[in-house]
Amino acid sequence: MTPKELVRPEILALKAYHVAEAGGMVKLDAMENPYSLPEPLRRELAEVLARVDINRYPEPSGRKLRELLTRKMNVPRGMELLLGNGSDDLIQIVTLALARPGASMMYPAPTFVMYGMDATFSGMRAIPVPLREDFSFDADAFVARMKAERPALVFIAYPNNPTGALYPQADVIKVLQAAPGLVVVDEAYHAFAGRSFMPRLGEFANLVVLRTVSKLGLAGIRLGYLAGRPEWISEFNKVRQAYNVNVLTQAAALFLLERLDVLEKQAALICDERAKLGAALAEVKGLAVFPSEANFFLVRVPDAERTFEALKERNVLVRNLHPGLRNCLRITVGTAEENRILLTALRESVQQ
Ligand code: PMP
Repeated sequence: MTPKELVRPEILALKAYHVAEAGGMVKLDAMENPYSLPEPLRRELAEVLARVDINRYPEPSGRKLRELLTRKMNVPRGMELLLGNGSDDLIQIVTLALARPGASMMYPAPTFVMYGMDATFSGMRAIPVPLREDFSFDADAFVARMKAERPALVFIAYPNNPTGALYPQADVIKVLQAAPGLVVVDEAYHAFAGRSFMPRLGEFANLVVLRTVSKLGLAGIRLGYLAGRPEWISEFNKVRQAYNVNVLTQAAALFLLERLDVLEKQAALICDERAKLGAALAEVKGLAVFPSEANFFLVRVPDAERTFEALKERNVLVRNLHPGLRNCLRITVGTAEENRILLTALRESVQQ
């Protein structure tokens, strides 16, 4: 028996999530925070990690970390948290839990590709509902489609990846009110958006809020959290792998989230740089930039493949979304210096 004969056809048809080789490049492809931790903090962290008992399994539910996150992230009273190995893990957990036979998942598209991939893994039918031409959200069309298809699960990335758009709050509320199933508001980029559904969890019985510390500067430790009513969290908790958040991650997060102000200052710097980069991108001839409330910009160029390659030759790595998104590139906001290098390379590349 060969893999082709044994593996499910829908898995055979997939392409693995693509991560580009970035050695030595100006890395603007993955929405990472470009700033490292201050040196004294790194040393303290090293000491904290050195004392972790790595011979022991983690405390399975990350109790201390949940308590700290509840406090630091203003999780409303009465709501509970589920921790994940990145928010990727939590997307998979929720999807697996709701994948009853015949169930479907709906999301505005284009959006984060893992929603659709997890639908495939779990046997759920994925229903992408197209955004408008300008990538704005047509809430009425979405609601109409929900009424027809009755999805068990809806994902709204708030702000959206890869477009950067933060949909009007009223539109998300329309979805919450009309959804026949669970709505996951994915706030991976909340640190840059200044708006959140976290304080409104109590208003909607079918809402859970998904977050990650990745974009805040801790992408490497892999930690996500899902906030919602205990009835939801206790079901999802059954699907979680027993030790999904390892001891080093828990220890690092406990240490660093007590010092959240350091990361929040970096997020504020990124927002300043976003404003400057957005204005500069708007000036580049031949390039259209979409408004963003996240830490990246979606841009459209005449020939995305060519511009992507030309940037690579100049040692700048961005994300090429072409052909899925016609001639679009996604560019993470970097440091002032990185953005300067990007802009120079981009001007040369687009005008080539
Ligand atoms: N949600 C959205 C909208 C994302 O863009 C990403 C990462 N690109 C994730 C979730 C996953 O993030 P992580 O697994 O690092 O928490």
